[in-house]
Amino acid sequence: MQAAPGVYVIGAVASRAYLLGGVELTLIDAGGPGSAGRVLRAMARLEHRPQDLTRILLTHVDLDHVGGLGPLVEASGARVYAHPAAFERLAEGRVPRGDRGLSSAWALLRGLFVLPRRIEMQGEPLDDGAALPVLGGLRVVYTAGHSPDHVVYSLEQPRLIFAGDLLEARRGHLEACPGPGAAARQETVLALRRLASLDPLGILPGHGPAYRDNIALRLVRLAEILEE
Ligand SMILES: [Zn+2]
Repeated sequence: MQAAPGVYVIGAVASRAYLLGGVELTLIDAGGPGSAGRVLRAMARLEHRPQDLTRILLTHVDLDHVGGLGPLVEASGARVYAHPAAFERLAEGRVPRGDRGLSSAWALLRGLFVLPRRIEMQGEPLDDGAALPVLGGLRVVYTAGHSPDHVVYSLEQPRLIFAGDLLEARRGHLEACPGPGAAARQETVLALRRLASLDPLGILPGHGPAYRDNIALRLVRLAEILEE
């Protein structure tokens, strides 16, 4: 499924991943364990070879977003881009299960899961505001709130936000997904206001459908609700 020119939605295991590009491909998030085959098959349908995947961007390190990372890096040789705190989590083997997406069956499988740190990978730490040469420009926006290692990716043309687990559309309404505690709520408020200032035309979350209705207004309203 195409969300915009050059932007493909991949139904990965337990979450959504997004494939971007033309000649070289960039993947945003790697899905839960068992997702690599789905990503590689989606690439094959677009007449791409595994090695055409040159970048894997992570929104954050939860198992439902990094479970497919190891096999995908092995198959493609792609470099992995993420917030420095995400690489710390990977290096320490601290891969939370994630609060949504993975059933308890996957939680049980977690013990069998080969952590990405055991895979040789080229890591590229991303700072807030970094720009990547993907589809005419993809910018990194640091958005702690769901988790301290969380970033979202802002495509400049068209203005789309790849929101990871910060936002989700439930029953037609865009909702924020802060982590536990007052500090996480406050970080989420800051993130929502920053994203509103980008005036996005679409939100592409890590779970569930895209959201395209009056986004800036809704983001400001969500920030106000969290501040009440
Ligand atoms: Zn998730």
